[in-house]
Amino acid sequence: EEGMNAQDLGKLLHREPAEIVKKLFMLGVMTNQNQSLDKDTIELLAAEYGIESKEKVHEDISDIDNLYQKEVEASKESKHQESRPPVVTIMGHVDHGKTTLLDRLRHTNVSEHEAGGITQKIGAYQVRVDDRLITFLDTPGHAAFSNMRARGAEVTDIVVLVVAADDGVMPQTIEAIDHAKSAGVPIIVAINKMDAPGANPSHVTEQLMKYNLIPEDYGGDTIFVKISAKTGDNVEELLQMILLQADVLELKADPHQKAIGTVVEARLSRGRGPVADILVQQGTLEVGDPIVVGNTFGRVRVMTNDKGRRVKKATPSMPVEITGLNDVPESADKFVVFEDEKTARAVGEQRAQNALQKQREKVQHVTLDNLFDTM
Ligand code: GDP
Ligand code: MG
Repeated sequence: EEGMNAQDLGKLLHREPAEIVKKLFMLGVMTNQNQSLDKDTIELLAAEYGIESKEKVHEDISDIDNLYQKEVEASKESKHQESRPPVVTIMGHVDHGKTTLLDRLRHTNVSEHEAGGITQKIGAYQVRVDDRLITFLDTPGHAAFSNMRARGAEVTDIVVLVVAADDGVMPQTIEAIDHAKSAGVPIIVAINKMDAPGANPSHVTEQLMKYNLIPEDYGGDTIFVKISAKTGDNVEELLQMILLQADVLELKADPHQKAIGTVVEARLSRGRGPVADILVQQGTLEVGDPIVVGNTFGRVRVMTNDKGRRVKKATPSMPVEITGLNDVPESADKFVVFEDEKTARAVGEQRAQNALQKQREKVQHVTLDNLFDTM
């Protein structure tokens, strides 16, 4: 492979090629502008301009995003994939009924043996429909969805867009459509408040068609369901439609892989220390697993499902609350399971240190700016 020459380096360093040649001459390297340079020479020159060589010989095991991505890729090649429950986010304009729908779904089909039917308030929960499951992220609204996406966490498989039949398309409806589209996530339209006096679902459908959400009876492929989150009318139908959409998407994961996933929410509990609600995306997370979560690390101590029951394992698309971390991670942080605790600790500590360093640099920049401002 041809190395870089003085001309290329000049471009990179915003210097005239002639200056690069001269500099190299001073360093004892005779070259012209077009002659390709070896690695040592480039490093020598870079050092001269105060640039550290970024090239890494070994894979950086503290790069959690990379490790996570590798497992995502590995799952695509895996022959042991199994179908997994869809992960759904509910979006829509304020007051169109997102919270009411999430509350109703939370109490849908919760069987008797599941802790008396009471679902715990963790960041996500699962609903059983026949013999299948659907995972709902319990934070409606766009900020959470955008934050996840901005951090590279693609956890949502399906967006349920709630539009009030008596109010129609509003600014946040459009915003939600834009978010889902740019994420490439399919939308199911739930026309809500069908029980309300002014309900006008055909008007809502007409409005949505302008945004390319076309129901099947108009030749499109978007699923529309008319519901009332308040009375529960047709909510079961909505669940069936989510499963239908999930079938089309053929959602799969390999439960035998190394476990990876994403933090939905995290907090500090007085009695239990750092607590994280996480969503497993590949593999199976087990109690005792050494784990790195964002810039924190630990060993999964207690794992609790959305029904408040202690579990030993969590399979793909399953939300669980875990304890055992040394610090509180952030929502949208990724987690990766490690072979041994020692490595997990080393990686976690390294990441915490890097984060601290970055924070310090930021503060220093701010201080410098402030200084200039006052001059
Ligand atoms: P959010 O802002 O999207 O989370 O909306 P909420 O769930 O808080 O609902 C806003 C208001 O609409 C509340 O007063 C709900 O009781 C009401 N609401 C929600 N769903 C329905 C419905 O299906 N029918 C009627 N009539 N009212 C509803
Ligand atoms: Mg709400």
